[in-house]
Amino acid sequence: MCGIVGYIGTKQAYPILIKGLKRLEYRGYDSAGVALISNNRHLNVYKAKGKVSDLEGFAAEKDISGTVGIAHTRWATHGEPSRANAHPHYSSSENLALIHNGIIENYATLKEKLQSKGYQFKSSTDTEVLVQLIDYIMVTNKLDLLSAVQLALQEVIGAYAIAVLEKNNPDQIVAARKSSPLVVGIGEDEFFLASDATPIVEYTDKVVYLDDEEIAIICRGEELKVVDFRNVEMNPEIREVKLNLGQLEKGGFPHFMLKEIFEQPDCIYDCMRGRINVDADNVVLSAVIDYKEKLLGARRFIIVACGTSWHAALIGKHLIESFCRIPVEVEYASEFRYRDPVIDEQDVVIAISQSGETADTLAAIELARSRGAFIYGICNSVGSSIPRATHTGSYIHVGPEIGVASTKAFTGQVTVLAMLALTLAKEKQSLPREEFLEIVKELSHIPEKMKKVLELNHRIAGLSQIFTYAHNFIYLGRGYSYPVALEGALKLKEISYIHAEGYPAAEMKHGPIALIDAEMPVVVIATHNGLYEKVLSNIQEIKARQGRVIALVTEGDNVISGIADYCIELPATLECLDPLITTVPLQMLAYHIAVCKGKDVDQPRNLAKSVTVE
Ligand code: GLU
Repeated sequence: MCGIVGYIGTKQAYPILIKGLKRLEYRGYDSAGVALISNNRHLNVYKAKGKVSDLEGFAAEKDISGTVGIAHTRWATHGEPSRANAHPHYSSSENLALIHNGIIENYATLKEKLQSKGYQFKSSTDTEVLVQLIDYIMVTNKLDLLSAVQLALQEVIGAYAIAVLEKNNPDQIVAARKSSPLVVGIGEDEFFLASDATPIVEYTDKVVYLDDEEIAIICRGEELKVVDFRNVEMNPEIREVKLNLGQLEKGGFPHFMLKEIFEQPDCIYDCMRGRINVDADNVVLSAVIDYKEKLLGARRFIIVACGTSWHAALIGKHLIESFCRIPVEVEYASEFRYRDPVIDEQDVVIAISQSGETADTLAAIELARSRGAFIYGICNSVGSSIPRATHTGSYIHVGPEIGVASTKAFTGQVTVLAMLALTLAKEKQSLPREEFLEIVKELSHIPEKMKKVLELNHRIAGLSQIFTYAHNFIYLGRGYSYPVALEGALKLKEISYIHAEGYPAAEMKHGPIALIDAEMPVVVIATHNGLYEKVLSNIQEIKARQGRVIALVTEGDNVISGIADYCIELPATLECLDPLITTVPLQMLAYHIAVCKGKDVDQPRNLAKSVTVE
């Protein structure tokens, strides 16, 4: 869900659009494109896979004249990264060009309808459906662009920021938003449009942040007009942007990692978009439904992954085994690929990777495929190598992750695994209906609860200052919280370079307890669940040896608060969904300790974002 830029005014649009796209590069993208209405009134669209510089190369010999244009950097959600799938998309008549950030959930139904009316499609994106729908409404009802956009958006379910150009009207851009940001910059005889203010601030400090379901009609030489989908005129508030460029790129956060931690409620919402229905009484991962015989007929599942994805896999094992009663093994991809595993066509392999390029995971997939296993991928980057190497799979749809230490991809992976387990359980009828409904409903409330956890940021920042002295940390958890302990320890190691170990809490007395003294911080995930009493005893054991306990507890817990040195209170949720809540404060703790120690959190030493070597 990447970048939008637009310009209308007295200057040549192309250089402004390209510069704007470059300013938005930090958001991550896989292709770029631009549409311009030329001086001789052609609507030209140029697109390229890859970088903005590839787009410049492609457009170098072309007509790039025009004082109005829109431009886009795409992070694929529907259809692989390619020139055909890059935006802008033309309508069939080539009268309209449209750019879009977000996801059109009901694109398949709309596409079928348009196909039955004779519309043909050149891309596999959800976006092309929208531009064709607007065209269809315009042509059949003989409407102007604004009215057609309004009607089309009433039919669309999903998240979007869009901008549309009409060949016959070089004096106007129509732009709209719902759940994806869009900003209009107001200059002297010119307007700018962008996903955030970064491409705008060097031209003007006057901006209007569009609200959900608002449409901006940006006309040359006129005042900015904003209406809603039903044409009620809005009163846009013109604000002054004071942030500098560096701050703007990170959405006002000092680091990408913190920005991405804070994005998690929205990311989880996007991840569930169109998969959990509005009344929260159903959950559908289409790939699971399409291959349900294969999945339900499996002798066992093997999840292969590395690093943070391997921790998500451990949670997935728990979820699938308890909801579906299917045995699940979790393997490090790097071990699996070299140990001649017993695997055949009765097995299903689930491969998890944020980038979709992890070399060991790819090799594990190839091995499993060669032995006849069915492969299901869970990735973030659309069209990357792993989704291409698998039989089917689900994207986590959390948007590009720039910080090297993974945060939102982990919670996205856990969310997809929960939806996978629930969809399978429903098909298999392995969960009582009441329980199924309770979990689905609670999953839909997770983004709200995550927001409450994020309110603790200040407190966790304060707590972090106390622990910068530490050279070692222990993280403990049981059941669903054990993988969270591993993930919390990994986050701390990755960015603060403090040695940290995650353990199942009961394992402590089989060795690690020897490390505990008055210097040793021990982070214990002690939220209210089936193993609460057991974890409480583990905390007592640590305190008896003077360890310094930082406990994650459920709001209102006044037992552990009397024992632990520091308590972080979290909203209650179901035990099986607890990792989506408890991981977040551990990400914040790692982040703030690293910041206190002056480390480069976004680019920690020795680490790469996408591990394409074995
Ligand atoms: N869903 C659209 C696509 O896959 C837009 C993705 C984006 O936000 O860049 O083309």
